[in-house]
Amino acid sequence: MSMADREGLIWHNSQIVQWRNAQTHVLTHTLHYGMGVFEGVRAYKTERGPAIFRLREHTDRLFNSAHILGMKVPYDRDTIDEAQRIAVRENRLDSAYIRPMFYFGPEGMGLRADNLDVHCIVAAWEWGSYLGEENMKNGIRVRVSSFTRHHVNVTMCRAKANGNYMNSMMALQEAMRDGYDEALMLDAQGYVMEGTGENVFLVRGGVLYTPDLTSALDGITRKTIMTLARELGIDVVEKRITRDEVYIADEAFFTGTAAEVTPIREVDGRAIGSGTRGPITERLQQLYFDVVHGRSEAHLEWLTLV
Ligand code: PMP
Repeated sequence: MSMADREGLIWHNSQIVQWRNAQTHVLTHTLHYGMGVFEGVRAYKTERGPAIFRLREHTDRLFNSAHILGMKVPYDRDTIDEAQRIAVRENRLDSAYIRPMFYFGPEGMGLRADNLDVHCIVAAWEWGSYLGEENMKNGIRVRVSSFTRHHVNVTMCRAKANGNYMNSMMALQEAMRDGYDEALMLDAQGYVMEGTGENVFLVRGGVLYTPDLTSALDGITRKTIMTLARELGIDVVEKRITRDEVYIADEAFFTGTAAEVTPIREVDGRAIGSGTRGPITERLQQLYFDVVHGRSEAHLEWLTLV
C-alpha cells in the first residue's frame, strides 16, 4: 500500500490533517537538495497503554540535527513532543513507528536557503520488525559495504539528516543485490562504523565493544544498550574497531529504533561465533524488549504514555 494512500491523520505545521491531504508542492526545497532532518521513534504497547520510548531524547536529537544544519525551527520541544503523542493517539495505535521531520518548503529555490520556512510533519503508523521477525532470533547476514560512511567533515553524522541516507541506501542496495540482509559500513580510515540505519556492537571475551562516535549516529538504542549492559555488570568499551575484529567476535548485533536489537550471524561469508544469536545478545535483546514494553520496573522514566 502506498504510504500516501492510507486512512489516518498527520500532524502538519500544527494542524491535524487527513493522511491523504498531508501534501507539499513538487518544488519543496528538501525534495531537491536533501537538506532536512528527521527522527525515527517507537511507541510500544504497555499495560498502561501505548508509551513512546525515550521521547525527549529523540526530540532533543531532532533539534540538535536542525541546529547543526542551520535550520531555524519555529517550534519548541514541548510542542514536538506533544505532536508525537497526538500522532499516536489520533491514529488509535497500540504501538507505532513515529516519523517527525523538519524540512524546507517551496518558498524559494537555489542553495542559499535563507528565505525558506522550516515546516514540520509528524506521522505515525504500525511498523513491525524492521529486519524481519525470524531474524531477531537467528540473526542476519551482513556484508561490509564497498561504500564509505560519511567523513566527519563532509556532511557530519551527529545530525540525522535526510541527505545522509543516500549513502545508507546505496550500501543497502548493494548488500541486498548480493543476497545479504544489511550492510556494515566502514569510515574513511577503514574502521568499522555502523549499519545503514543501526549502530553496531561486538562481544568478545564477555566484553561489549562498539565504535566510538565519529561518523556514526549517536544512537538512542546504542545508549540504552550500553546502560542496560553496564547494569548487568558487563564491561562496555567504545573504541576503534577493525573489520577483522568483527570476523573473530564471539557475537555481534545491530541496534536501532527500527532494528531494535538484531543479531548478526554472518559477515562477508564468515560465521560470527556460533553462527546464530549469542547468549549476551539474547539477554540484552530480552531486557530491551522488557524495558520498552514497561515490563521491567527499571527505567520507567524512559516511557511517555501517549
Ligand atoms: N545509525 C544510523 C545511520 C541510523 O539511521 C540509526 C537509526 N536512527 C541508528 C544508527 C540508530 O539510532 P537510534 O538507536 O537512535 O534509532
